[in-house]
Amino acid sequence: MIKQYIFLAVLFLTLLVFAWTTRKLIRFFRITRQDYRVDQTGRRIGVMLRVAFGQTKIFRRPVIGLLHALVFWGFCVILIGSIEMVADGITGKEKVFSGLEVAYDVIMASGDIFAPVIIIAIAVFLFRRLFLHVKRFSGVEMKPVSHLDANVSLTLILLLMVSLLGMNIYYLHSTLEAGQQVEGVYPVSRVLAGWIGTGRHSSEVLYQVNWWAHILLIFVFANYLPYSKHFHVFMSVPNVFLSRLEPLGKLDTMEQITREVKIMMDPEQAFATPSVEEKKEEEVPERFGILDIEDVSWKSYLDSLACTECGRCTSVCPANITGKKLSPRKVVMDVRARMREKGPGIIRKGRDYSDQKSLVRDYVTGEELWACTFCNACAMECPVNINQPALILGMRRYLVMEESAAPAELNTVFSNIENNGAPWQFSREDRMLWAKNMQVPLLSELFARGERPEYLFWVGSAGAFDDRYRLVSRAFVKILRHLGISFAVLGTEESSSGDVARRAGNEMLFQMQALMNIELFRTYGVRKILTCDPHAFNTFKNEYPDLGGDYEVIHHTQFLHAQIMAGNLQLRDGALAGRRITFHDPCYLGRANSVYREPRQVIDALSATRVEMKRNMSAALCCGAGGGQMFKEAEKGDREVFMERTGEALDTGADIICTACPYCMVMITDGLKYNNSEEEVKNYDVAELVEMGLKLEVRG
Ligand code: SF4
Ligand code: SF4
Repeated sequence: MIKQYIFLAVLFLTLLVFAWTTRKLIRFFRITRQDYRVDQTGRRIGVMLRVAFGQTKIFRRPVIGLLHALVFWGFCVILIGSIEMVADGITGKEKVFSGLEVAYDVIMASGDIFAPVIIIAIAVFLFRRLFLHVKRFSGVEMKPVSHLDANVSLTLILLLMVSLLGMNIYYLHSTLEAGQQVEGVYPVSRVLAGWIGTGRHSSEVLYQVNWWAHILLIFVFANYLPYSKHFHVFMSVPNVFLSRLEPLGKLDTMEQITREVKIMMDPEQAFATPSVEEKKEEEVPERFGILDIEDVSWKSYLDSLACTECGRCTSVCPANITGKKLSPRKVVMDVRARMREKGPGIIRKGRDYSDQKSLVRDYVTGEELWACTFCNACAMECPVNINQPALILGMRRYLVMEESAAPAELNTVFSNIENNGAPWQFSREDRMLWAKNMQVPLLSELFARGERPEYLFWVGSAGAFDDRYRLVSRAFVKILRHLGISFAVLGTEESSSGDVARRAGNEMLFQMQALMNIELFRTYGVRKILTCDPHAFNTFKNEYPDLGGDYEVIHHTQFLHAQIMAGNLQLRDGALAGRRITFHDPCYLGRANSVYREPRQVIDALSATRVEMKRNMSAALCCGAGGGQMFKEAEKGDREVFMERTGEALDTGADIICTACPYCMVMITDGLKYNNSEEEVKNYDVAELVEMGLKLEVRG
């Protein structure tokens, strides 16, 4: 009876502290922006089962991943035993779940087996942290307190498992000594009990000591967690359940901008009756983008609480790898730290509270923000599905749309897009120079004749203006002609897709471009779009639908693959025999849209030897051009991203580096020049290799 009273008192105290922490967290969540929608419950459950319970992303690093997964699965099983202990403590009984019979035996046996497995795994984790100096555990954001926190949490888990085994061992001893029936099965503890014996002390006393030690550790752990990186123990499953379901390449549309852009493009809209949603948007005084913690969405704040500080994101970030200041882990941790700093003030004094600091600049600097290539490697790697680029984009949007504080080169890009419809200062009139002597059909002319081609070939600004990529546009058109495909181009009517403007934070300009293009596509009845540019491909496919533009969008690698598979493209046997080809995955084709297989199978059809780089497919390193980087000086670091990536390609011993993106083409070409390798190693697009394989006419 006394044990029961003491237990109830301790439980009450634990719940009180926990409730206080929970209340504080709920009030923090109320400060954030409520603009993240949760739908598609069925799909979410699937993601949760796969990523959270199946631990699929953690297995991207198999050995350490297996240890983490075992700890997670062990925790899940042991949690049931912990719930039983609480029930035992409340009712004053022993083993209240034993009525579950066989299921109970399985649960107890699993927990008993997992306990030593977790002890071994935690010992490995502690050893690594204390003695091996793993690079991803360091970084400016990893202050001594972060390391202390990790070590304290790991030690608590270790003690939890030791006390669990101790409890099981002495439960067996005391029950058998009393001649009672053992409830549950304890395969490991039974062996250990045989070895350890009871010594001078009574088994019942030792059982009680371990029982109390275990339950008190659980209570301490539960209340320590919300203040620790190990809060992910609670938050990772809900965070994965609530994670974004869209392709990684899709960025969120700012709806409050859409109405403004529509009014700019059609002033009559200003007098149209707004919908209920639009009215709601108008009522909320908005700041564009993220300046401080109150501009962060509740989901991004949840992300920050679920972050395990594992550093997997930072370890794959091209900016960080090449010595730049950006660390996606730091950006996520900064959100949590800023809320801790400013949140209490807002709760006490209201939303107008200011401490003269802000998340942007005082925590995350412009230098960090402008180093991002939006390659999505961080989001792909994160084991709890955190979306770091969403935060970076939000902060860029603030800098660009509220302060006009983009780097000067990007401001020039914005003016070029506005004036010429391309990021470069080329005249719109020169958009067809790439097709000199080719007589490429223009959509406007076909339309005037009443003809409706099957495909719009979106050439893209690089495909039209960049000297090197013009050759790719020509090669692809030759293939289309060879196949007898019905297609046309927009010619001088083509403009920027808006991808660069959007990723550089200029949502207003992106939406203007997008709405203009959508209107043009509508006029010509465009249904299918073919393009060699993965950035345009991603934007049309994933982002235009939010603004009313729904098309079948096909990247040229997908198209070529389909044609080869259908037997429509008969490649010359041995056209590229003896050549070693490595394929560089463009981020907006691979990670953003999961197109990995098609370009590789096209290369394989050319009977060359395909070799893979160390980082390939979803783990491929960015070329360094995305997110507007192509048009500006890189931030300070030890080297440039294209040097690193080209180095990896050269390490394969390939004599052809194959790409499928205009930006990658520019970067890899620069990398070859930097390495003085442009004589021995060539850089071709997939379309050019197919053109060679077809032995089409020499390029005009
Ligand atoms: S998107 Fe790429 S560059 Fe940007 S933070 Fe993530 S990994 Fe780094
Ligand atoms: S954001 Fe994800 S990958 Fe990065 S440290 Fe946190 S949990 Fe790890």
